[in-house]
Amino acid sequence: MRSVIPDYLTEALAEVAPDVSGQLAGYIPELAAADPGRLGVVFATLDGKIYGAGDVDAEFTIQSISKPFAYALALADRGFDPVLAKIGVEPSGEAFNEISLESGSGRPLNPMINAGALTAHSLAGSREWDPAGRVERVIDGLSAFAGRQLSIDERVYASEMEHAHRNLAIAHMLRSYDVLTEDPQAVVDGYTRQCSVLVTVRDLAMMAATLANRGVNPVSGEQVVGERVVRQVLSVMATCGMYDSAGDWATQVGIPAKSGVSGGLIGALPGQIGIATLSARLDAHGNSVRGVTLFERFSSDMGLHVMEVPPSARAVVRSNHVVGGGPHAVRVFQLQGGIRFAGAERIVREVLDTAPPEVAVALDLTMVYSIDDVARRMLLEVARRLTVDHHEVFLIDPEALVPDPEPGDGGRVTVVEDLEQAVRSVTARSTGHEPAPGSPGDEGREVPREQP
Ligand code: GLN
Repeated sequence: MRSVIPDYLTEALAEVAPDVSGQLAGYIPELAAADPGRLGVVFATLDGKIYGAGDVDAEFTIQSISKPFAYALALADRGFDPVLAKIGVEPSGEAFNEISLESGSGRPLNPMINAGALTAHSLAGSREWDPAGRVERVIDGLSAFAGRQLSIDERVYASEMEHAHRNLAIAHMLRSYDVLTEDPQAVVDGYTRQCSVLVTVRDLAMMAATLANRGVNPVSGEQVVGERVVRQVLSVMATCGMYDSAGDWATQVGIPAKSGVSGGLIGALPGQIGIATLSARLDAHGNSVRGVTLFERFSSDMGLHVMEVPPSARAVVRSNHVVGGGPHAVRVFQLQGGIRFAGAERIVREVLDTAPPEVAVALDLTMVYSIDDVARRMLLEVARRLTVDHHEVFLIDPEALVPDPEPGDGGRVTVVEDLEQAVRSVTARSTGHEPAPGSPGDEGREVPREQP
């Protein structure tokens, strides 16, 4: 059977195709000569599946879509403090090429406007590198996000450099504030090369998917940048990625995004998908007209808005029941889904409210597919408190979601593969076949009680 998604994408393109409003970017002559008819879209899933329609393999220059990725590289290469000292994270509400800096410090307001992007480019790679080494680092970094080696369109680069007066003005101003500490001309040159990297809609969707996938490229499996960097970049995309239409975008589309003057547009929906579109005619903000319409449609058709509230954590406790009777009774809290703070709070409350009279208590993770750090710690604390209250605690964890269960201070859990193993252990103990309560023998791996 044919997948439903390409059909949906084809239909979405057909719907926006007649819209010829907007203008090509006129200030870069090579871009003014682009084919305005090109129209494409790609969805890239986090396990590497690509769905596309239209012109998915046509090459064009990345332009400003390079900005979040170069910012990510600067953060990864130099660390947060040096980068944040030079580039703010406040939406400017201004056009991308506005000649404006924070009053007093001279800091660019954010890394998505040109002032911040020029500065971010200057911070990629190691401090000692020359401009050429830095450009190489940026191209290699963008390539790692895309999962294939990218290269520069020399004609577009040369064309933009001939008319780069505005970016040169911004760079000189940054130099006067010592935000840039080197030749401004070389920074503009490197940044313009960065903007001239050739990509396809497929590449851009994969780059977005890498951000949506916590910095891991879904196909190559490479961790391109760390999770903390990804969080920072997505936050800045969400607040500043669409320049002076960031507020409209945040409310109507609600996907961290970035546009470029060659008509590309990407959206990275954390934990779900990377999306990219291409259509060269731009609105007054410099965002692709048909791209914006497509994203609005995708967001409303498929509930992709990041503020779309997920189902509440209540369902995390699937059941709370007793297996067996008398001294063999085991209280089972069967948990399910992905557990984060709110889910863990539900579990804590369920266990407290139940105040299980049974000695044996099993926390069953068989139907849980993920558990984050805080939820893991809260679960182990529940286990510790149950032990202190004279319970024997089993963790049914066949997939080792809690790989090294250490409840600490007086706590003890016995990890078993399934409920049956827990029941057997309890039965064996109460019929005298086991040496001591809580010792699983060969029934499971036990985590030893901590010595005071
Ligand atoms: N290279 C372009 C510039 O600096 C990128 C701008 C953009 O895509 N918004 O003007």
